[in-house]
Amino acid sequence: MVDLVSGEELWLWRRQAQQQAIAQDIPAAELDWLLQEMIGLDRLSLRLELFKEQPQILLRLPFAELMQLWEQRVATRVPVQYLAGATTWRNFVLRVSPAVLIPRPETEEIIDLAKDLAKDLAKQLAAFQSGHWADLGTGSGAIALGLADAFPEAVVHAIDRSSEALAIAQQNAEQLGLSRIRFYQGDWFEPIASLQGNLSGMVSNPPYIPSRLIAELQPEVSRHEPHLALDGGADGLDCIRQLVSAAPLYLKSGGIWLVELMQGQADTVAQLLVAQGSYRQIQVHADLAGIDRFVSATRI
Ligand code: GLN
Repeated sequence: MVDLVSGEELWLWRRQAQQQAIAQDIPAAELDWLLQEMIGLDRLSLRLELFKEQPQILLRLPFAELMQLWEQRVATRVPVQYLAGATTWRNFVLRVSPAVLIPRPETEEIIDLAKDLAKDLAKQLAAFQSGHWADLGTGSGAIALGLADAFPEAVVHAIDRSSEALAIAQQNAEQLGLSRIRFYQGDWFEPIASLQGNLSGMVSNPPYIPSRLIAELQPEVSRHEPHLALDGGADGLDCIRQLVSAAPLYLKSGGIWLVELMQGQADTVAQLLVAQGSYRQIQVHADLAGIDRFVSATRI
């Protein structure tokens, strides 16, 4: 499954593909990322077009297939990460498929927040960085992997309703050698009923987009990413409401509740946590773009 192409031939195609990208409002950097992932050309060689001088370049897939992948990117707006089957997230390269949401850069911060919150708690309660942590709606496994990496003593429980997503998450864990993650298929906390009162923390990036807004998202998202991972019901908060009401049964006293949400939802979610009555230290956290993106709380 390899092919040979001359540097000149590849250069000519890339130049035409770059023009296509510009015309279609697709970041031209995505083309180079695809060339790096699928052919293994290095970034500098692409930037300086050094590859043009190479008489022959060994491709990991037939050139025609590469051209076809790019055609799909442009014509049907398939996200480049699905075409490459991979994305980078924190310090990981993760496998992705259309069965899972492509992990977003802003979600990377949820791991640092979990670490900071756990550090504060560890001052009062030893063993907070160990113990049991849960990632509800794990998708590609990104958050579970981030937690396992951040808390080397912890056992991480990764749950998803989709068995296809779990298969991807499991492959990612195996590939990264993170063996302290247990995977479960099911609805939110339901598969980990035996851990009631035992969780040090729960982290989730649940579906939170209001149903009527899904069609308005960029076509890469609305046409290709799993709606199961996006659609949060009429006001986007269906899943978050479930996480607010179910978590107190599972978190130990002092345990952390940490959830990602959409711009404009933070105050409502903070009110839901107050009204539930089992939480203290409710905090809203902005992401690097300054958007209120996460809410955390501590189980009383
Ligand atoms: N952040 C994602 C987006 O912008 C949505 C993820 C989610 O619903 N949890 O499309």
